[in-house]
Amino acid sequence: MTDHSFTIAIVGAGAAGLTGAIAAAQTLAQEKIDGSVLLLDGAKHIGAKILVSGGGRCNVTHNVVTPKDFFGNRNIIRNVLAAFPVERTISWFTSLGVELKHEPTGKLFPTTDKARTVLQALIDGARHAGVTICPDHRVNAISRTNTGFLVQHNHGSAYASRVMLATGGQSLPRSGSDGFGFHLAHRLGHQINPTAPALVPLVLDRSMFQATLSGLSHDVELTTLVDKREVDRRTGSLLWTHVGISGPVVLDASRFWTLATKQGTVVEMYGNFVPGQSADELRAWFVAQAAQHPRRSLVRTLSYLIPDRFAESLCRHLSCEPQTAMAQVPRLNRDRLLHALTRFHFPIISDRGWNVAEVTTGGVPLEEINYRTMESKLVPRLYLLGEMLDCDGRIGGFNFQWAWTTGWLAGESAVRSLLKGKAPAHSASLLE
Ligand SMILES: Cc1cc2nc3c(=O)[nH]c(=O)nc-3n(C[C@H](O)[C@H](O)[C@H](O)COP(=O)(O)OP(=O)(O)OC[C@H]3O[C@@H](n4cnc5c(N)ncnc54)[C@H](O)[C@@H]3O)c2cc1C
Repeated sequence: MTDHSFTIAIVGAGAAGLTGAIAAAQTLAQEKIDGSVLLLDGAKHIGAKILVSGGGRCNVTHNVVTPKDFFGNRNIIRNVLAAFPVERTISWFTSLGVELKHEPTGKLFPTTDKARTVLQALIDGARHAGVTICPDHRVNAISRTNTGFLVQHNHGSAYASRVMLATGGQSLPRSGSDGFGFHLAHRLGHQINPTAPALVPLVLDRSMFQATLSGLSHDVELTTLVDKREVDRRTGSLLWTHVGISGPVVLDASRFWTLATKQGTVVEMYGNFVPGQSADELRAWFVAQAAQHPRRSLVRTLSYLIPDRFAESLCRHLSCEPQTAMAQVPRLNRDRLLHALTRFHFPIISDRGWNVAEVTTGGVPLEEINYRTMESKLVPRLYLLGEMLDCDGRIGGFNFQWAWTTGWLAGESAVRSLLKGKAPAHSASLLE
């Protein structure tokens, strides 16, 4: 495809780009504008990330989506979310032929339980709306012209009156989202806030007992301190893995660890394995247990609070014999155990990196975007959407909701901007 002209060119055919393309093409038709939409993606097979999402089932969105489910400028996020809320996501997917079901956790999945259903519907929707989809078209430069943009890719170039950048972040680089989009945005004049892997499992020092617990999950209250200041506290399920910790509570909190570490700041994570109980409350319980059941073993007593396997490993880690009768547990051991149960310091040495991270924290500052339209405040006619913006959601379908919302808003706004006297034009003269 060389030197073709389009009304709108979208770079990146992930969740945000596909949504933006459908919204743009449908709005063009609605407004009876004679225009065209080009969707370029560097990957040979588009939608890889949608296919692997939600364990292959694609957690499309969540029952209730609020700004608190996201990190970033929440004022802006609130306004963006309001433009295309969950109800619209659900009805939009219905219009594409995808029925969603609610699960008890609040997550919504396709009734088929197959991510392929979602991807296929988006691709069919885009084709049906008249979008020209070009896989294997990696964009390597975008320059401004006097009426729009020249988009250069590995097979040539295309002119467009409006460009939508939807290149994602850096998570799962083999899917095509390798962070090059940030470079494109930066070259066009945007700042890029420091990026780091988010929703990523963490690796613990080898001296810890995680490998013996691999596969076990239980609740923990996880507190994160950056420079000794508490920045996050949340309760949820922690999953022990072969190399460290994962599970929703760890994934949600991981962004604080990765960002602080990247910035060279001291960051610590502490766990209370008996959420809601203080060390003093547990001490009273422990003393009462020792009085009522003096011959009961330490590990059996602990198993009323935490899973057996974890109780055994924790005792051994602290050099407390698990089979000691409660009446015989030395006070020092008891206090060490109580401290470990309520303020366990996780010896985190790294995160699992971009290949495992589900999203990117950081990116193009939301303040540089007009939240009513997703148009750049710095580069007229350029729209930015999806994960490349500095907004990351917690586990539960929130990141896709951000992609659908920003995609729709950008696609619709890009077309509506044409109605304001700016005809769908294209030109060869470059603006540097
Ligand atoms: C394993 C995994 C599971 C996940 N599960 C869920 C889930 O169940 N629910 C949820 O809400 N979120 C989930 N997420 C997060 C969610 O997938 C992302 O937030 C979302 O896909 C971001 O959409 P996007 O369109 O902004 O970016 P992406 O999906 O990353 O798409 C960007 C596209 O741009 C293309 N591209 C990049 N650079 C160029 C270039 N230079 N030229 C041309 N094309 C380019 C890429 O090939 C890619 O197709 C998951 C993520 C992962 C990795």
